[in-house]
Amino acid sequence: MIENLNPFAIAQAQLDEAAAVLQLDPDMHAFLREPMREFHFTIPVRMDDGRTRVFKAFRVQYNDARGPGKGGVRFHPDETIDTVRALAAWMTWKTAVADIPLGGAKGGVICNPRELSRGELERLSRGYMRNVWRFVGLDQDSPAPDVNTNAQIMAWMLDEYETLTGQHEPGVITGKPLELGGSAGRPPATAMGGIFAIRETGRVLGIDLQGATCAIQGYGNVGSFAHKLAVEILDLKVVAVSDEFGGIYHANGLDYPTIAAHVRETGRVPDAPDADAISNNDLLTLDVDVLIPAAIENQLTGQNADEVRARIIAELANGPTTPEADDVFDEKGIYVIPDFLCNAGGVTVSYFEMVQNAYQFYWDETLVSDRLDKKMTTAFHAVHDMAQRKQVSNRVAAYLVAIDRVATAVRLRGWV
Ligand code: GLU
Repeated sequence: MIENLNPFAIAQAQLDEAAAVLQLDPDMHAFLREPMREFHFTIPVRMDDGRTRVFKAFRVQYNDARGPGKGGVRFHPDETIDTVRALAAWMTWKTAVADIPLGGAKGGVICNPRELSRGELERLSRGYMRNVWRFVGLDQDSPAPDVNTNAQIMAWMLDEYETLTGQHEPGVITGKPLELGGSAGRPPATAMGGIFAIRETGRVLGIDLQGATCAIQGYGNVGSFAHKLAVEILDLKVVAVSDEFGGIYHANGLDYPTIAAHVRETGRVPDAPDADAISNNDLLTLDVDVLIPAAIENQLTGQNADEVRARIIAELANGPTTPEADDVFDEKGIYVIPDFLCNAGGVTVSYFEMVQNAYQFYWDETLVSDRLDKKMTTAFHAVHDMAQRKQVSNRVAAYLVAIDRVATAVRLRGWV
């Protein structure tokens, strides 16, 4: 049978599995299976050559029972409404498992940002906000960076929003530059949260992680900070990293400053000095202690799961593992730190950013990382303990924790 790789079908299948364990009320189950609201729109962008190109875009507000919607905006050529739906669902479970008072949302634009000039990218970003400004806001839904979007894009979107509303409202968007109300410690936050989760995994499994080997797929904001912090915080030996163009390997470990300088210069990972070439699939199946998928969805599938040899998989990407791969990892006894737990550090510090914006009073990086550590450690143990108690996988356990919190809010509001 050919595996269904539709991300929303996967997100629903994961929910269904957890709902069965939880014996969730069927009406609640039906409600949680679907997004509450979604917006589809087109963004006409004046290109540098004078022509107008029309881009398709989405914003999905999956569930806001626990608080306003929250989630990034992706710019990707393969974006689909179902991908955005899945990502918005995962944001709902993510904010619940991290126990921050926000709901789940996500946005996407079908585009290839590598083909756009800086001016075109700015007009596209402003055009996105022009379409969504009426239904985003501090108390409605707050966008943030994700795949192929960054602090500069958040700054353009913020400026567009404030121009339209005529008011300063920095908390409407997070992942902003520091100078516009961004939080100290937001850029490394997703990776740092995952590193804290890996540290806790070492503790519960009784594994000494010092000098343990690690491979990282993806070298954007999350993957590159994961490389830096895996070495700095945990003293892991990062033997392989990759991006969409290919990967590099060295058995003695890859030096972060060298690789980061190469990526800054060339815009890609391959051909960095002092390393051999490796393909993305060979990276995923390396015999390492810790594997960190930090790219996009559907990387560990029924096709390659059998060959995966890692002891721990720390999912910094959203949706990197399909249900078929999950079954294989369960059988093999691989310890999976599921995505919406492992990568919750980003949205957690986004929440801290909103809090600081509300009070116009800013924290230093140490305070941010200490508070992040506390949140991640608590979330990790809630999931780990649930998995032990119910004898289910960590992914199902994470759903059990999250669904319980979201369903309670839905019930208290009288929606179901
Ligand atoms: N895009 C990030 C995620 O998938 C962060 C979202 C946010 O900060 O709102 O978790």
